[in-house]
Amino acid sequence: MPKTPPTLSLFNTLTRQVEPVRPVTEGRISLYTCGPTVYNYAHIGNLRTFLFQDLLKRTFRAAGYQVQHCMNITDVEDKIIRDSQGALAADASNEERHAAMKTLTDRFTTIFLEDLDTLGILPADHMPRATDYIPQMIRLIQDLEAKGLAYVREGSVYYRIAGLPQYGCLAHLDREGMQSGASVDADEYERDSVTDFVLWKAAKPGEPWWASPWGPGRPGWHIECSAMGMDLLGDRVDLHSGGVDLIFPHHENEIAQSEGCLGHRWVNHWVHGEFLMVEGQKMAKSLGNFFTLRDLTAKGVDATALRYAIQSNHYRKVLNFSFEGLRGAENALKRIRAFRARMEGEGSAGGGPWKEALDSTARLAQARESFWATMADDLNTPEALAELFTLISDLNAQDDHVALIREERDAVLAFLDETDAIFAAWPHQAHGLDAEVEALIEARRAAKAAKNWAEADRVREQLRTMGIVLEDRKDGSTGWRKA
Ligand code: AMP
Ligand code: ZN
Repeated sequence: MPKTPPTLSLFNTLTRQVEPVRPVTEGRISLYTCGPTVYNYAHIGNLRTFLFQDLLKRTFRAAGYQVQHCMNITDVEDKIIRDSQGALAADASNEERHAAMKTLTDRFTTIFLEDLDTLGILPADHMPRATDYIPQMIRLIQDLEAKGLAYVREGSVYYRIAGLPQYGCLAHLDREGMQSGASVDADEYERDSVTDFVLWKAAKPGEPWWASPWGPGRPGWHIECSAMGMDLLGDRVDLHSGGVDLIFPHHENEIAQSEGCLGHRWVNHWVHGEFLMVEGQKMAKSLGNFFTLRDLTAKGVDATALRYAIQSNHYRKVLNFSFEGLRGAENALKRIRAFRARMEGEGSAGGGPWKEALDSTARLAQARESFWATMADDLNTPEALAELFTLISDLNAQDDHVALIREERDAVLAFLDETDAIFAAWPHQAHGLDAEVEALIEARRAAKAAKNWAEADRVREQLRTMGIVLEDRKDGSTGWRKA
Protein backbone atom coordinates (compact mmCIF):
# COMPACT_ATOMS: atom_id res chain seq x y z
CA MET A 1 0.00 0.00 0.00
CA PRO A 2 1.54 3.36 -0.97
CA LYS A 3 2.32 5.81 1.87
CA THR A 4 0.67 8.84 0.28
CA PRO A 5 -2.32 7.54 -1.62
CA PRO A 6 -2.64 8.57 -5.26
CA THR A 7 -4.98 11.45 -6.05
CA LEU A 8 -8.35 10.38 -7.37
CA SER A 9 -10.56 12.70 -9.41
CA LEU A 10 -14.34 12.90 -9.39
CA PHE A 11 -16.98 14.99 -11.09
CA ASN A 12 -18.03 17.74 -8.70
CA THR A 13 -21.65 18.82 -9.12
CA LEU A 14 -20.75 22.21 -7.60
CA THR A 15 -18.36 23.10 -10.43
CA ARG A 16 -19.65 20.69 -13.09
CA GLN A 17 -16.09 19.48 -13.62
CA VAL A 18 -13.97 16.43 -12.93
CA GLU A 19 -11.64 17.63 -10.17
CA PRO A 20 -8.98 16.01 -7.99
CA VAL A 21 -10.23 15.14 -4.52
CA ARG A 22 -7.91 16.90 -2.06
CA PRO A 23 -8.91 15.73 1.39
CA VAL A 24 -9.01 18.12 4.32
CA THR A 25 -6.67 15.74 6.17
CA GLU A 26 -4.07 13.98 4.07
CA GLY A 27 -4.79 10.30 3.55
CA ARG A 28 -8.28 10.52 5.05
CA ILE A 29 -11.67 10.93 3.43
CA SER A 30 -14.87 11.88 5.18
CA LEU A 31 -17.89 10.69 3.23
CA TYR A 32 -21.55 11.43 3.91
CA THR A 33 -24.18 9.57 1.92
CA CYS A 34 -27.88 10.22 2.26
CA GLY A 35 -29.41 7.00 3.49
CA PRO A 36 -32.79 5.44 2.84
CA THR A 37 -36.20 6.64 3.90
CA VAL A 38 -37.28 3.47 5.69
CA TYR A 39 -41.01 3.16 4.97
CA ASN A 40 -40.86 0.35 2.40
CA TYR A 41 -38.46 -1.97 0.57
CA ALA A 42 -35.66 -0.22 -1.29
CA HIS A 43 -35.99 -0.80 -5.04
CA ILE A 44 -32.98 -1.63 -7.17
CA GLY A 45 -32.90 2.01 -8.39
CA ASN A 46 -32.21 3.09 -4.80
CA LEU A 47 -29.75 0.23 -4.53
CA ARG A 48 -27.93 1.43 -7.63
CA THR A 49 -27.09 4.60 -5.71
CA PHE A 50 -25.92 2.65 -2.65
CA LEU A 51 -23.84 0.36 -4.89
CA PHE A 52 -22.25 3.40 -6.52
CA GLN A 53 -21.38 4.80 -3.09
CA ASP A 54 -19.91 1.45 -2.05
CA LEU A 55 -17.72 1.52 -5.15
CA LEU A 56 -16.68 5.07 -4.33
CA LYS A 57 -15.76 4.17 -0.77
CA ARG A 58 -14.01 0.92 -1.66
CA THR A 59 -11.98 2.64 -4.38
CA PHE A 60 -10.63 5.21 -1.92
CA ARG A 61 -9.90 2.44 0.56
CA ALA A 62 -8.16 0.28 -2.02
CA ALA A 63 -6.08 3.31 -3.04
CA GLY A 64 -4.85 3.60 0.55
CA TYR A 65 -7.15 6.20 2.13
CA GLN A 66 -8.82 5.82 5.49
CA VAL A 67 -12.50 6.47 4.88
CA GLN A 68 -14.90 7.69 7.58
CA HIS A 69 -18.35 6.99 6.19
CA CYS A 70 -21.62 8.26 7.60
CA MET A 71 -24.92 7.10 6.12
CA ASN A 72 -28.07 8.23 7.90
CA ILE A 73 -31.35 6.42 8.25
CA THR A 74 -34.28 8.76 7.59
CA ASP A 75 -36.84 7.49 10.10
CA VAL A 76 -39.12 10.53 10.33
CA GLU A 77 -40.49 12.07 7.14
CA ASP A 78 -43.79 12.75 5.34
CA LYS A 79 -44.16 9.31 3.71
CA ILE A 80 -43.21 7.47 6.91
CA ILE A 81 -45.89 9.34 8.81
CA ARG A 82 -48.44 8.72 6.05
CA ASP A 83 -47.79 4.96 6.12
CA SER A 84 -47.39 4.40 9.85
CA GLN A 85 -50.32 6.27 11.40
CA GLY A 86 -53.29 4.97 9.41
CA ALA A 87 -54.29 2.18 11.82
CA LEU A 88 -54.30 4.41 14.91
CA ALA A 89 -57.41 5.93 16.48
CA ALA A 90 -57.84 9.69 16.05
CA ASP A 91 -57.22 10.19 19.78
CA ALA A 92 -54.07 8.03 19.94
CA SER A 93 -51.41 9.44 22.26
CA ASN A 94 -48.14 10.89 21.04
CA GLU A 95 -46.34 7.86 22.54
CA GLU A 96 -48.53 5.51 20.52
CA ARG A 97 -47.85 7.55 17.37
CA HIS A 98 -44.10 7.38 17.94
CA ALA A 99 -44.29 3.65 18.65
CA ALA A 100 -46.22 3.01 15.41
CA MET A 101 -43.66 5.02 13.46
CA LYS A 102 -40.81 3.10 15.07
CA THR A 103 -42.39 -0.28 14.33
CA LEU A 104 -42.49 0.60 10.63
CA THR A 105 -39.01 2.12 10.45
CA ASP A 106 -37.35 -0.64 12.52
CA ARG A 107 -38.80 -3.24 10.21
CA PHE A 108 -37.59 -1.56 7.03
CA THR A 109 -34.22 -0.60 8.51
CA THR A 110 -33.54 -4.28 9.19
CA ILE A 111 -34.65 -5.22 5.68
CA PHE A 112 -32.51 -2.48 4.17
CA LEU A 113 -29.40 -3.61 6.07
CA GLU A 114 -30.03 -7.20 4.95
CA ASP A 115 -30.21 -5.99 1.35
CA LEU A 116 -26.89 -4.16 1.72
CA ASP A 117 -25.35 -7.32 3.11
CA THR A 118 -26.72 -9.46 0.27
CA LEU A 119 -25.17 -7.05 -2.22
CA GLY A 120 -21.79 -6.99 -0.48
CA ILE A 121 -22.14 -3.30 0.46
CA LEU A 122 -19.89 -2.48 3.41
CA PRO A 123 -21.67 -1.04 6.45
CA ALA A 124 -20.99 2.64 7.19
CA ASP A 125 -18.92 3.63 10.22
CA HIS A 126 -21.83 5.75 11.45
CA MET A 127 -25.49 4.97 10.75
CA PRO A 128 -27.39 7.59 12.71
CA ARG A 129 -31.18 7.54 12.87
CA ALA A 130 -32.72 10.96 12.45
CA THR A 131 -34.96 10.53 15.49
CA ASP A 132 -31.86 10.24 17.71
CA TYR A 133 -30.66 13.70 16.60
CA ILE A 134 -33.67 15.93 17.31
CA PRO A 135 -31.74 18.10 19.87
CA GLN A 136 -28.95 18.74 17.34
CA MET A 137 -31.56 19.70 14.71
CA ILE A 138 -33.26 22.10 17.10
CA ARG A 139 -29.92 23.74 17.99
CA LEU A 140 -29.05 24.15 14.32
CA ILE A 141 -32.41 25.80 13.57
CA GLN A 142 -31.97 28.12 16.57
CA ASP A 143 -28.57 29.08 15.26
CA LEU A 144 -30.03 29.87 11.82
CA GLU A 145 -32.74 31.93 13.50
CA ALA A 146 -30.11 33.87 15.46
CA LYS A 147 -28.27 34.59 12.20
CA GLY A 148 -31.43 35.93 10.55
CA LEU A 149 -31.64 32.98 8.17
CA ALA A 150 -34.80 31.44 9.59
CA TYR A 151 -38.22 32.75 10.58
CA VAL A 152 -41.25 31.34 12.36
CA ARG A 153 -44.73 31.23 10.88
CA GLU A 154 -47.59 29.56 12.76
CA GLY A 155 -45.38 27.19 14.73
CA SER A 156 -43.28 26.15 11.72
CA VAL A 157 -39.81 27.47 10.95
CA TYR A 158 -38.65 28.33 7.43
CA TYR A 159 -35.28 29.03 5.86
CA ARG A 160 -34.97 32.51 4.32
CA ILE A 161 -33.19 31.70 1.04
CA ALA A 162 -32.72 35.38 0.19
CA GLY A 163 -30.37 35.59 3.21
CA LEU A 164 -27.73 33.32 1.71
CA PRO A 165 -25.89 34.68 -1.34
CA GLN A 166 -24.79 31.22 -2.50
CA TYR A 167 -28.30 29.72 -2.42
CA GLY A 168 -28.66 27.86 -5.73
CA CYS A 169 -24.92 27.19 -6.19
CA LEU A 170 -25.29 23.41 -6.41
CA ALA A 171 -28.36 23.13 -8.62
CA HIS A 172 -27.18 26.20 -10.58
CA LEU A 173 -30.44 28.02 -10.00
CA ASP A 174 -31.26 31.35 -11.50
CA ARG A 175 -31.61 33.72 -8.53
CA GLU A 176 -34.03 35.89 -10.50
CA GLY A 177 -36.74 33.22 -10.40
CA MET A 178 -36.59 32.60 -6.66
CA GLN A 179 -39.50 33.53 -4.46
CA SER A 180 -38.19 34.20 -1.01
CA GLY A 181 -41.06 34.97 1.37
CA ALA A 182 -43.28 32.35 -0.22
CA SER A 183 -42.74 29.02 1.49
CA VAL A 184 -43.19 25.30 0.97
CA ASP A 185 -44.05 22.75 3.65
CA ALA A 186 -43.47 19.58 1.62
CA ASP A 187 -40.06 17.91 1.78
CA GLU A 188 -39.95 17.34 -1.97
CA TYR A 189 -40.71 19.97 -4.62
CA GLU A 190 -39.65 20.93 -8.12
CA ARG A 191 -36.92 23.36 -9.11
CA ASP A 192 -39.38 25.64 -10.88
CA SER A 193 -40.92 26.51 -7.51
CA VAL A 194 -37.92 27.68 -5.53
CA THR A 195 -39.15 29.18 -2.29
CA ASP A 196 -38.23 29.32 1.37
CA PHE A 197 -38.27 25.77 2.69
CA VAL A 198 -39.37 24.26 5.94
CA LEU A 199 -36.91 23.47 8.75
CA TRP A 200 -39.39 22.57 11.48
CA LYS A 201 -43.01 21.58 10.88
CA ALA A 202 -45.70 22.47 13.40
CA ALA A 203 -47.53 19.31 14.50
CA LYS A 204 -50.74 18.50 12.65
CA PRO A 205 -53.49 16.33 14.17
CA GLY A 206 -52.69 12.66 13.74
CA GLU A 207 -48.90 13.12 13.61
CA PRO A 208 -46.16 12.23 16.11
CA TRP A 209 -44.37 15.28 17.52
CA TRP A 210 -41.46 16.45 19.67
CA ALA A 211 -41.43 19.47 21.98
CA SER A 212 -39.44 22.43 20.65
CA PRO A 213 -38.94 26.17 21.30
CA TRP A 214 -41.57 26.73 18.58
CA GLY A 215 -44.12 24.33 20.06
CA PRO A 216 -44.80 20.68 19.22
CA GLY A 217 -43.59 19.61 15.80
CA ARG A 218 -41.09 17.56 13.83
CA PRO A 219 -38.05 18.24 11.69
CA GLY A 220 -38.17 18.80 7.93
CA TRP A 221 -36.24 16.23 5.92
CA HIS A 222 -33.37 18.52 4.86
CA ILE A 223 -32.32 19.61 8.35
CA GLU A 224 -31.87 15.96 9.35
CA CYS A 225 -28.81 15.41 7.14
CA SER A 226 -27.18 18.74 8.00
CA ALA A 227 -27.47 18.04 11.73
CA MET A 228 -26.25 14.44 11.57
CA GLY A 229 -23.51 15.18 9.04
CA MET A 230 -22.08 18.10 11.02
CA ASP A 231 -22.33 16.24 14.31
CA LEU A 232 -20.58 13.10 13.09
CA LEU A 233 -18.22 14.26 10.34
CA GLY A 234 -17.55 17.84 11.39
CA ASP A 235 -17.42 21.27 9.81
CA ARG A 236 -15.45 20.34 6.70
CA VAL A 237 -16.46 17.25 4.80
CA ASP A 238 -14.64 15.86 1.78
CA LEU A 239 -17.41 14.04 -0.10
CA HIS A 240 -21.18 14.08 0.05
CA SER A 241 -23.27 11.89 -2.20
CA GLY A 242 -26.72 10.82 -3.34
CA GLY A 243 -28.69 10.15 -6.49
CA VAL A 244 -29.13 13.02 -8.98
CA ASP A 245 -32.67 13.65 -7.72
CA LEU A 246 -31.18 14.82 -4.43
CA ILE A 247 -29.28 17.74 -6.01
CA PHE A 248 -32.41 19.85 -5.73
CA PRO A 249 -33.90 20.55 -3.32
CA HIS A 250 -32.31 18.25 -0.73
CA HIS A 251 -28.60 18.94 -1.18
CA GLU A 252 -29.10 22.59 -2.10
CA ASN A 253 -30.95 22.97 1.19
CA GLU A 254 -28.34 21.05 3.15
CA ILE A 255 -25.74 23.52 1.87
CA ALA A 256 -27.97 26.46 2.85
CA GLN A 257 -28.46 25.09 6.38
CA SER A 258 -24.89 24.00 7.09
CA GLU A 259 -23.07 26.87 5.41
CA GLY A 260 -25.56 29.38 6.79
CA CYS A 261 -24.59 28.16 10.24
CA LEU A 262 -20.84 27.65 9.68
CA GLY A 263 -20.14 30.72 7.55
CA HIS A 264 -17.80 28.72 5.29
CA ARG A 265 -17.83 25.91 2.73
CA TRP A 266 -19.10 22.69 4.33
CA VAL A 267 -18.56 20.02 1.65
CA ASN A 268 -15.79 20.19 -0.94
CA HIS A 269 -17.00 17.65 -3.43
CA TRP A 270 -20.63 16.74 -4.24
CA VAL A 271 -20.93 13.46 -6.13
CA HIS A 272 -24.20 12.27 -7.65
CA GLY A 273 -25.09 8.97 -9.25
CA GLU A 274 -27.42 8.72 -12.24
CA PHE A 275 -30.72 6.89 -12.30
CA LEU A 276 -31.57 3.32 -12.95
CA MET A 277 -34.33 3.36 -15.56
CA VAL A 278 -36.94 0.91 -16.81
CA GLU A 279 -38.02 1.37 -20.42
CA GLY A 280 -36.90 4.97 -20.46
CA GLN A 281 -38.49 5.97 -17.13
CA LYS A 282 -36.88 6.48 -13.73
CA MET A 283 -37.45 3.40 -11.54
CA ALA A 284 -39.62 4.76 -8.72
CA LYS A 285 -42.13 3.53 -6.20
CA SER A 286 -44.54 6.24 -7.25
CA LEU A 287 -44.47 4.97 -10.86
CA GLY A 288 -44.95 1.34 -9.82
CA ASN A 289 -42.24 0.19 -12.26
CA PHE A 290 -39.81 -1.18 -9.73
CA PHE A 291 -38.14 -4.38 -8.62
CA THR A 292 -36.87 -4.97 -5.12
CA LEU A 293 -33.74 -7.04 -4.57
CA ARG A 294 -35.96 -9.79 -3.16
CA ASP A 295 -38.11 -9.80 -6.34
CA LEU A 296 -34.97 -10.55 -8.30
CA THR A 297 -33.37 -13.11 -6.00
CA ALA A 298 -36.73 -14.95 -5.92
CA LYS A 299 -36.42 -15.18 -9.72
CA GLY A 300 -33.00 -16.78 -9.26
CA VAL A 301 -30.92 -13.66 -9.99
CA ASP A 302 -27.54 -13.78 -8.28
CA ALA A 303 -27.06 -10.63 -6.16
CA THR A 304 -23.38 -10.42 -7.11
CA ALA A 305 -24.33 -10.44 -10.79
CA LEU A 306 -26.67 -7.50 -10.10
CA ARG A 307 -23.87 -5.74 -8.23
CA TYR A 308 -21.55 -6.26 -11.18
CA ALA A 309 -24.20 -5.29 -13.79
CA ILE A 310 -24.62 -1.97 -12.02
CA GLN A 311 -21.01 -1.24 -11.12
CA SER A 312 -19.60 -2.13 -14.52
CA ASN A 313 -21.51 0.83 -15.97
CA HIS A 314 -20.32 4.37 -15.38
CA TYR A 315 -22.08 5.90 -12.40
CA ARG A 316 -22.86 9.14 -14.27
CA LYS A 317 -24.63 7.41 -17.14
CA VAL A 318 -28.28 6.50 -17.02
CA LEU A 319 -28.55 2.72 -16.85
CA ASN A 320 -31.44 0.79 -18.32
CA PHE A 321 -32.27 -2.25 -16.25
CA SER A 322 -32.66 -5.49 -18.22
CA PHE A 323 -32.41 -9.22 -17.62
CA GLU A 324 -30.17 -9.42 -20.67
CA GLY A 325 -27.75 -7.05 -18.88
CA LEU A 326 -27.80 -9.40 -15.89
CA ARG A 327 -26.93 -12.38 -18.07
CA GLY A 328 -24.04 -10.41 -19.56
CA ALA A 329 -22.82 -9.71 -16.04
CA GLU A 330 -23.03 -13.40 -15.11
CA ASN A 331 -20.92 -14.32 -18.12
CA ALA A 332 -18.34 -11.65 -17.38
CA LEU A 333 -18.05 -12.90 -13.81
CA LYS A 334 -17.69 -16.51 -14.96
CA ARG A 335 -14.77 -15.44 -17.10
CA ILE A 336 -12.97 -13.61 -14.31
CA ARG A 337 -13.62 -16.40 -11.80
CA ALA A 338 -12.46 -19.11 -14.22
CA PHE A 339 -9.29 -17.12 -14.77
CA ARG A 340 -8.82 -16.82 -11.03
CA ALA A 341 -9.26 -20.59 -10.58
CA ARG A 342 -6.73 -21.14 -13.36
CA MET A 343 -4.18 -18.88 -11.68
CA GLU A 344 -4.78 -20.60 -8.34
CA GLY A 345 -3.88 -23.91 -10.02
CA GLU A 346 -0.40 -24.74 -11.18
CA GLY A 347 -0.92 -24.69 -14.94
CA SER A 348 0.17 -27.42 -17.33
CA ALA A 349 3.31 -27.67 -19.42
CA GLY A 350 1.45 -26.02 -22.29
CA GLY A 351 2.39 -26.00 -25.94
CA GLY A 352 5.99 -24.88 -25.47
CA PRO A 353 7.78 -21.78 -26.74
CA TRP A 354 5.50 -19.28 -28.39
CA LYS A 355 6.43 -16.54 -30.78
CA GLU A 356 4.19 -13.99 -29.08
CA ALA A 357 5.39 -14.83 -25.57
CA LEU A 358 5.18 -11.85 -23.25
CA ASP A 359 6.82 -10.77 -20.05
CA SER A 360 3.91 -11.41 -17.71
CA THR A 361 5.37 -9.24 -14.94
CA ALA A 362 5.62 -6.20 -17.20
CA ARG A 363 2.21 -6.94 -18.72
CA LEU A 364 0.65 -7.13 -15.26
CA ALA A 365 2.32 -3.90 -14.12
CA GLN A 366 0.97 -2.12 -17.18
CA ALA A 367 -2.57 -3.46 -16.63
CA ARG A 368 -2.46 -2.40 -12.98
CA GLU A 369 -1.33 1.09 -13.90
CA SER A 370 -4.05 1.47 -16.55
CA PHE A 371 -6.66 0.09 -14.18
CA TRP A 372 -5.83 2.69 -11.56
CA ALA A 373 -5.49 5.52 -14.08
CA THR A 374 -9.03 4.89 -15.33
CA MET A 375 -10.48 4.44 -11.84
CA ALA A 376 -8.76 7.65 -10.73
CA ASP A 377 -10.43 9.45 -13.63
CA ASP A 378 -13.97 9.76 -12.23
CA LEU A 379 -14.36 6.05 -11.44
CA ASN A 380 -14.33 4.91 -15.03
CA THR A 381 -15.29 1.31 -14.30
CA PRO A 382 -16.10 0.26 -17.90
CA GLU A 383 -12.57 1.18 -18.98
CA ALA A 384 -10.95 -0.27 -15.88
CA LEU A 385 -12.74 -3.59 -16.39
CA ALA A 386 -11.81 -3.57 -20.08
CA GLU A 387 -8.18 -3.41 -18.92
CA LEU A 388 -8.77 -6.42 -16.70
CA PHE A 389 -10.37 -8.43 -19.50
CA THR A 390 -7.55 -7.69 -21.92
CA LEU A 391 -5.08 -8.84 -19.30
CA ILE A 392 -7.08 -12.03 -18.83
CA SER A 393 -7.05 -12.76 -22.59
CA ASP A 394 -3.32 -12.09 -22.84
CA LEU A 395 -2.37 -14.20 -19.85
CA ASN A 396 -4.71 -17.05 -20.79
CA ALA A 397 -3.06 -17.18 -24.21
CA GLN A 398 0.37 -17.06 -22.62
CA ASP A 399 -0.48 -19.75 -20.07
CA ASP A 400 -1.80 -22.02 -22.86
CA HIS A 401 1.69 -22.10 -24.32
CA VAL A 402 4.16 -21.59 -21.51
CA ALA A 403 2.64 -22.04 -18.06
CA LEU A 404 3.22 -19.04 -15.79
CA ILE A 405 5.42 -19.95 -12.84
CA ARG A 406 4.08 -19.83 -9.27
CA GLU A 407 5.48 -16.34 -8.51
CA GLU A 408 3.87 -14.94 -11.65
CA ARG A 409 0.57 -16.60 -10.82
CA ASP A 410 0.68 -15.19 -7.29
CA ALA A 411 1.33 -11.69 -8.59
CA VAL A 412 -1.74 -12.02 -10.85
CA LEU A 413 -3.77 -13.28 -7.88
CA ALA A 414 -2.65 -10.28 -5.82
CA PHE A 415 -4.01 -8.01 -8.56
CA LEU A 416 -7.29 -9.95 -8.61
CA ASP A 417 -7.53 -9.45 -4.84
CA GLU A 418 -6.80 -5.74 -5.24
CA THR A 419 -9.55 -5.33 -7.83
CA ASP A 420 -11.95 -7.56 -5.89
CA ALA A 421 -11.52 -5.29 -2.88
CA ILE A 422 -13.39 -2.76 -5.05
CA PHE A 423 -15.84 -4.91 -7.01
CA ALA A 424 -16.40 -7.66 -4.43
CA ALA A 425 -17.31 -10.21 -7.08
CA TRP A 426 -14.36 -12.56 -7.66
CA PRO A 427 -13.05 -13.59 -4.25
CA HIS A 428 -10.93 -16.63 -3.54
CA GLN A 429 -13.47 -19.47 -3.67
CA ALA A 430 -12.10 -22.00 -1.15
CA HIS A 431 -15.32 -21.95 0.80
CA GLY A 432 -17.43 -22.21 -2.33
CA LEU A 433 -15.57 -25.39 -3.28
CA ASP A 434 -15.82 -26.69 0.28
CA ALA A 435 -19.57 -26.23 0.26
CA GLU A 436 -19.99 -27.95 -3.08
CA VAL A 437 -17.79 -30.89 -2.12
CA GLU A 438 -19.50 -31.25 1.25
CA ALA A 439 -22.90 -31.27 -0.46
CA LEU A 440 -21.78 -34.05 -2.83
CA ILE A 441 -20.30 -36.08 0.03
CA GLU A 442 -23.61 -35.76 1.83
CA ALA A 443 -25.45 -36.90 -1.34
CA ARG A 444 -23.15 -39.94 -1.54
CA ARG A 445 -23.71 -40.76 2.15
CA ALA A 446 -27.48 -40.58 1.62
CA ALA A 447 -27.20 -42.82 -1.48
CA LYS A 448 -25.18 -45.38 0.48
CA ALA A 449 -27.63 -45.29 3.35
CA ALA A 450 -30.39 -46.00 0.82
CA LYS A 451 -28.20 -48.82 -0.59
CA ASN A 452 -28.23 -47.02 -3.94
CA TRP A 453 -24.71 -48.09 -4.82
CA ALA A 454 -24.91 -46.95 -8.43
CA GLU A 455 -25.73 -43.39 -7.32
CA ALA A 456 -22.99 -43.47 -4.67
CA ASP A 457 -20.46 -44.50 -7.31
CA ARG A 458 -21.72 -41.84 -9.69
CA VAL A 459 -21.18 -39.12 -7.06
CA ARG A 460 -17.69 -40.44 -6.25
CA GLU A 461 -16.89 -40.29 -9.97
CA GLN A 462 -18.26 -36.73 -10.22
CA LEU A 463 -15.98 -35.71 -7.36
CA ARG A 464 -13.05 -37.42 -9.01
CA THR A 465 -13.55 -35.38 -12.18
CA MET A 466 -13.52 -32.26 -9.96
CA GLY A 467 -10.07 -33.34 -8.75
CA ILE A 468 -11.34 -34.43 -5.33
CA VAL A 469 -10.23 -37.70 -3.72
CA LEU A 470 -12.43 -39.18 -0.99
CA GLU A 471 -11.10 -40.92 2.09
CA ASP A 472 -13.60 -43.13 3.89
CA ARG A 473 -12.59 -43.25 7.54
CA LYS A 474 -13.03 -46.04 10.07
CA ASP A 475 -15.53 -44.01 12.08
CA GLY A 476 -17.86 -43.89 9.07
CA SER A 477 -17.15 -40.25 8.18
CA THR A 478 -15.65 -39.21 4.86
CA GLY A 479 -12.75 -36.81 4.40
CA TRP A 480 -11.49 -35.36 1.15
CA ARG A 481 -8.44 -33.78 -0.42
CA LYS A 482 -7.47 -32.30 -3.74
CA ALA A 483 -5.86 -34.86 -6.05
P1 AMP B 1 -34.85 7.39 -0.75
O1 AMP B 1 -34.92 6.16 0.13
O2 AMP B 1 -36.09 7.60 -1.55
O3 AMP B 1 -34.46 8.62 0.05
O4 AMP B 1 -33.72 7.16 -1.83
C1 AMP B 1 -32.46 6.61 -1.52
C2 AMP B 1 -31.48 6.92 -2.63
O5 AMP B 1 -31.92 6.34 -3.87
C3 AMP B 1 -31.29 8.41 -2.93
O6 AMP B 1 -29.90 8.69 -3.00
C4 AMP B 1 -31.97 8.61 -4.28
O7 AMP B 1 -31.33 9.65 -5.00
C5 AMP B 1 -31.73 7.27 -4.94
N1 AMP B 1 -32.67 6.92 -6.04
C6 AMP B 1 -34.02 6.99 -6.07
N2 AMP B 1 -34.51 6.51 -7.25
C7 AMP B 1 -33.45 6.10 -7.98
C8 AMP B 1 -33.27 5.50 -9.29
N3 AMP B 1 -34.30 5.18 -10.08
N4 AMP B 1 -32.01 5.23 -9.70
C9 AMP B 1 -30.94 5.51 -8.92
N5 AMP B 1 -31.04 6.07 -7.68
C10 AMP B 1 -32.27 6.36 -7.21
ZN1 ZN C 1 -29.54 13.80 2.97
